[in-house]
Amino acid sequence: MKISVDEEKCCGAGQCVMIAPGVFDQRDDDGIVILLDENPPRDHHEAARESAGVCPAAAIHLREDA
Ligand code: SF4
Repeated sequence: MKISVDEEKCCGAGQCVMIAPGVFDQRDDDGIVILLDENPPRDHHEAARESAGVCPAAAIHLREDA
């Protein structure tokens, strides 16, 4: 799995960080997403998928084949 985030779209809502704290964090000053691990281990994949699904800005992109 390869993850990318679009900081321009992110509205800092933080759902991704709550669901997958091993993969995402947020900047302290404005809450914009920080991608901690673009190739997370398998046990984080489900949470990463869930984060991408709930992100209100559709700012999280996953490539399952990478
Ligand atoms: S869920 Fe989406 S909008 Fe919210 S902080 Fe994460 S990437 Fe940004």
